[in-house]
Amino acid sequence: MTENPTEQESESTQYDYSFDYIQKKLEGKKDSYGMLMKEIVRAGICTECGTCAAVCPVLEWDHLTGQPKLIGKCTGCGICYNQCPRTITDPIQLMGEFKTGYVSNTNIPEVIGAQDGGTVTSLLCYLFDEHLIDAAVVSMKDPNNPWHPVAQIITNKDDAIKAAGSIYCHSQTVEALMDAIREGYRSIAFVGTPCNIDAVDKMTSSPAGMLKYFMRAHVLKIGLFCMDSFSPEAIYPFFEQDGIDLTKVVKMDINKGKFHIYYDHDGEPIKSYTIKQLDKFKSSSCNFCTDLTAENADISVGSVGSGPKKNTAFARTGIGAEIIEDAASKGYIKIESYNAINLNAVLFLAKLKKVSQYNIQKRKVFIVKDSKTQSEPKVETKPEAEQAVKPLGSRKFLSVKKSINEEDVVLNISLTNSVGYLLEDLKIRIVIVEELFEKKPWITTIRELFPYETIEIGYPLETVNNDIVYSNVLVEASTEKFGKVFSKTYKLAPQEEK
Ligand SMILES: Cc1cc2nc3c(=O)[nH]c(=O)nc-3n(C[C@H](O)[C@H](O)[C@H](O)COP(=O)(O)OP(=O)(O)OC[C@H]3O[C@@H](n4cnc5c(N)ncnc54)[C@H](O)[C@@H]3O)c2cc1C
Ligand code: SF4
Ligand code: SF4
Ligand code: SF4
Repeated sequence: MTENPTEQESESTQYDYSFDYIQKKLEGKKDSYGMLMKEIVRAGICTECGTCAAVCPVLEWDHLTGQPKLIGKCTGCGICYNQCPRTITDPIQLMGEFKTGYVSNTNIPEVIGAQDGGTVTSLLCYLFDEHLIDAAVVSMKDPNNPWHPVAQIITNKDDAIKAAGSIYCHSQTVEALMDAIREGYRSIAFVGTPCNIDAVDKMTSSPAGMLKYFMRAHVLKIGLFCMDSFSPEAIYPFFEQDGIDLTKVVKMDINKGKFHIYYDHDGEPIKSYTIKQLDKFKSSSCNFCTDLTAENADISVGSVGSGPKKNTAFARTGIGAEIIEDAASKGYIKIESYNAINLNAVLFLAKLKKVSQYNIQKRKVFIVKDSKTQSEPKVETKPEAEQAVKPLGSRKFLSVKKSINEEDVVLNISLTNSVGYLLEDLKIRIVIVEELFEKKPWITTIRELFPYETIEIGYPLETVNNDIVYSNVLVEASTEKFGKVFSKTYKLAPQEEK
């Protein structure tokens, strides 16, 4: 610290300059104090380092709550967000390494009407025409099962054009790739979501990768940007119940937080949902995914960051850049330079995806029954014959674990949603079974049980002279939609605890 006022003044001027400079640099980004609170503090990953409060004149450290606290008007400049050690703000961390980027769209009349700018399909056309590939792996709509993806090996550009369009579900693309390799194709373009691309990347580059020492096939990885995909077993019945005829749907599109469904390529959507509305149908694996832009691809293509009917494309490898440039020079696509990309939009979405991992909390609902209150057995588990169709075949809805806590005289039962999508209004019934009679029934309804969430229930056991009575306990669960989804009688014994 200095006593010299001139030095103090120059120090403070320099600090102000630095604050203003960074503020300007962050203009247009959506980083803010609100995001810091949501993504870091409320997600429980704040290290309490106090950096955010240290840099901002209107933030101070609240020692009582162990959190930053606003003491003035926040301008939303995002400086606090960008100093925090737990936020992810570096563009390379958010989007991966790339050589250059473009805004691109097709120049081929038959490809207009593809998902966005038709860049992926046009690149496939170029690659076939130039004999750079002898096959490609794409995902087409199953003709017998509307809007279910089928990964396909194609060998010509007409099929590439037929495969245009996005299907927002997991597609088993690697299976088709391996078939193509076994069938003897040696230069293969592989189109897939970032998770698909990661699989191929691992197979070709990790020490134990199946394709690492297989020199005869070259795979060009064309990655699609991807924020999330949905469980077809869950989302399509929902659409159908909502009056949508899947056989008439020509396009599904996710744009600016909305899922649109079209019967007509040029018309308005016949139905639009917010992504939040459809969140319960999201594939649970997508909650754990942090890669928006297919960071391990040769070429990554998406829609965010470019205008309607255009694509944002990143060339990540030398060959990726050469292919895009040559396809453009030969008139397959039009390209605009890197500066045409709305990079802030891409970074914002990429950030949402990277930090979503912080919000994965295994919610646990703790329920302890008060042994003095007696509820009446009113559960209505549907008889087998009346049960709704279970669309998941042999897949288990719930996995159940139990243990006895002798000290508290409680049977701990934990039920985990193992089905991979939301279970609504889950009715749980626990009862002691003595010969043919049931007693001490206990019932509760859990409004929403998210995929892989666990409910912990403490069911009080009976005692005689302070000794636990080890009886049989029946655990049942049912939902309105699926009827009885779990039923098992447990024979309790003292050694249960071990
Ligand atoms: C599940 C999913 C989620 C997406 N989320 C986003 C997002 O959040 N933000 C964003 O900017 N872009 C997203 N995209 C990418 C976007 O929908 C377009 O695929 C991309 O912009 C390329 O557009 P295009 O016009 O060049 O595609 P087209 O020329 O129409 O080509 C699309 C290609 O994708 C293939 N394909 C379709 N469905 C699948 C699938 N399920 N798995 C593997 N390959 C498939 C087709 O075979 C076709 O070759 C997503 C794509 C998918 C499949
Ligand atoms: S003014 Fe800027 S640095 Fe301060 S809390 Fe708001 S966003 Fe953060
Ligand atoms: S800078 Fe980040 S980690 Fe540090 S106290 Fe603030 S929110 Fe927490
Ligand atoms: S969000 Fe991730 S896991 Fe889900 S489909 Fe997209 S890339 Fe795959």
